[in-house]
Amino acid sequence: GIKKSDASRNKADHEPDTSSEEKDQETTEDVEETRKSLPVYKVRSQLLQLIRENQVMIIIGETGSGKTTQLAQYLYEDGFCNDGRLIGCTQPRRVAAMSVAKRVSTEMHVELGQEVGYSIRFEDLTSPNTLIKYMTDGILLRETLLDDTLEKYSCIIIDEAHERSLNTDVLMGIFKTVLKKRTDLKIIITSATMNASKFSNFFGKAPLFTIPGRTFPVQVIYSKFPPEDYVEAAVTETVKIHLSTPIDSGDILIFMTGQEDIETTCDVIKEKLLQVYIKKYGISKFSEINDLEILPIYSALPAHIQSRIFRSTDNNKRKIVVATNIAETSLTIAGIRYVIDTGLSKLKVYNPKIGLDSLAITPIAQANANQRSGRAGRTGPGIAYRLYTEESFDDDMYVQAIPEIQRTNLSNTVLLLKSLSVSDVLKFPFIDPPPLQTLLTSLYELWSNGALDNKGCLTPLGKEMAKFPLQPSLSKILLVSAQNGCSEEMLTIVSMLSVPQVFHRPNERQEESDLARSRFFIPESDHLSLLNVYGQWRNNNFSSSWCKKHFLQYKSLVRAHDIRTQLATVMEKQGIQLVSSGSDWNIIRKCICVGFSHQAAKISGLGKYIHLRTGMDVQIHPTSALFGLGDLPPYVVYHELLMTSKEYLCCVTSVDPFWLMESGFLLYDIRRMKTDKEMNPRTYGEYDIRDDDQKGEDNLDLAIKNCI
Ligand code: ADP
Ligand code: MG
Repeated sequence: GIKKSDASRNKADHEPDTSSEEKDQETTEDVEETRKSLPVYKVRSQLLQLIRENQVMIIIGETGSGKTTQLAQYLYEDGFCNDGRLIGCTQPRRVAAMSVAKRVSTEMHVELGQEVGYSIRFEDLTSPNTLIKYMTDGILLRETLLDDTLEKYSCIIIDEAHERSLNTDVLMGIFKTVLKKRTDLKIIITSATMNASKFSNFFGKAPLFTIPGRTFPVQVIYSKFPPEDYVEAAVTETVKIHLSTPIDSGDILIFMTGQEDIETTCDVIKEKLLQVYIKKYGISKFSEINDLEILPIYSALPAHIQSRIFRSTDNNKRKIVVATNIAETSLTIAGIRYVIDTGLSKLKVYNPKIGLDSLAITPIAQANANQRSGRAGRTGPGIAYRLYTEESFDDDMYVQAIPEIQRTNLSNTVLLLKSLSVSDVLKFPFIDPPPLQTLLTSLYELWSNGALDNKGCLTPLGKEMAKFPLQPSLSKILLVSAQNGCSEEMLTIVSMLSVPQVFHRPNERQEESDLARSRFFIPESDHLSLLNVYGQWRNNNFSSSWCKKHFLQYKSLVRAHDIRTQLATVMEKQGIQLVSSGSDWNIIRKCICVGFSHQAAKISGLGKYIHLRTGMDVQIHPTSALFGLGDLPPYVVYHELLMTSKEYLCCVTSVDPFWLMESGFLLYDIRRMKTDKEMNPRTYGEYDIRDDDQKGEDNLDLAIKNCI
């Protein structure tokens, strides 16, 4: 596995702030008491018996019943590691994998990373001593590439299966074969109450076991009218609850859509409450308020801040937790009595026909709404305020959420399956099959990128690409860059593309931060601008104060630096050289073009572009460095096509049409333009690159015929 780099050993960034946690340290007796009080403890021997008797089992239990933290320990205590094999437990979310591993290491009185460890993409905190390994489902999926029967595990817990994350779904399909080859391997699938019989049927009527619950009634209160502004509605409700109920009556959990909304919500709650407190108690600053604590939680939040939600506050303080759907089932927060549910979540939905990801605030499903409400009834009777009408619950919400596999790009998955020698991906045992069009588009994309040959088999290039924990196009530009002498630079670019937003744009200082961002612009390319940011940060000794001054997210940069080190190791292992192109940045743009030629657009008017393959009208995202050029360039390739308010190309690089022609020869045709005055001045000189319909059609037919 990949190890953490030295550069990241900056404790403050990666590890919980232990000094301030010390005071909350539970004693050994406390830990034992807590473990024994969990619902799963009462059925411990029954469960172990069933696991011994069955190869696959489905365990259902309310959130907080102890599935994630206890099952692995029970298996360990029962001797599942005696022959040196591991117990693995997968999580759909990175945050959950880290926080649960930490918790279990505490319960077992071992150092995190020793007997109990975790592994998430680009961060491996395990050692040769590790016996219980928490990891994201993506990590286990990649491990199947190295060992397709997963020999090192005696038992694997697929946790949070009801979430139906893409990787969990694919893993379950893969296990169908693995189980036949490894009759000694145990698989435990755990799920919240929703949808569990589906898993049982998938594994030939595997037994279902329900952990007897311990929940209290939750009163559900709907809004009479749909709110105009859900942030405002949530704030109003929160303030009302906080001011009208005794502090010790319980904590408040608000379900919001994403980071931005969460931060706004926290800010507005502070503001509103401060106004009240100023009048009531004559204080002047929020920090003087000592009867509440407002805690945001979303996956991009650093771990040591996240761990604050588990700390018990004293009875004179109320916790107000503002979370994404991460708090629905994967993290249990004690003491919640009031739930405020916006009924919304931020969802990315992929349209395979045009390769467009839409990121939109979408109503959640009824099953999720019920999960959210349930969070109020763990320690006593609770109240759930739904910020939507009962009609909206009945009419606008699906009963169950649509699984990720049916709404996402599958290029990565298809490449992985091909690497696992699944020759016909359409016949793979999917628990719910993805849309046919998505599979076909992925096959086409991989074929046009040279990962698959005309028969749909993995090419040597495809095999190399699959070795990187990256999306196929990014693996490809890394490989191509090595041949072209700019792998040092491309490594930086790919790493910078693998982290959340590096530019910080606080609401109240937008103009200032936009100006700061523009100072990093390389007008030909957003990719090169990212390279520039990293380079300058490195020249400033990776300083955090420098980041702050220039409106850069220090944590994102540290993570990019970390990822860079990890990827360099992968490259080294594969014997790929790290070479710098020095000041020649055109070669870098050319390499980007090679990997992204299927994602190209041509200018079609003032500020407008037309997608070369689909003919769709698109625009360059307003934050792009390309607006720094006098004129927008005639041809561009892009990293992502994202629909928010419009169809935007995000992270764009201007390219020479001849590069496009060379690398996209399977897709495009070049035509000599008329040399008379009709010639569109915006096309490149005398030439025009266009999607060759016939060529495209023929090639698509060929690809489909051969690939399936
Ligand atoms: P389940 O997986 O069934 O939802 P868990 O095993 O996650 O249940 O949780 C069991 C108990 O452990 C819960 O009461 C929860 O509050 C507690 N717990 C889980 N993670 C942590 C943590 N990081 N710190 C403190 N307590 C935790
Ligand atoms: Mg759990």
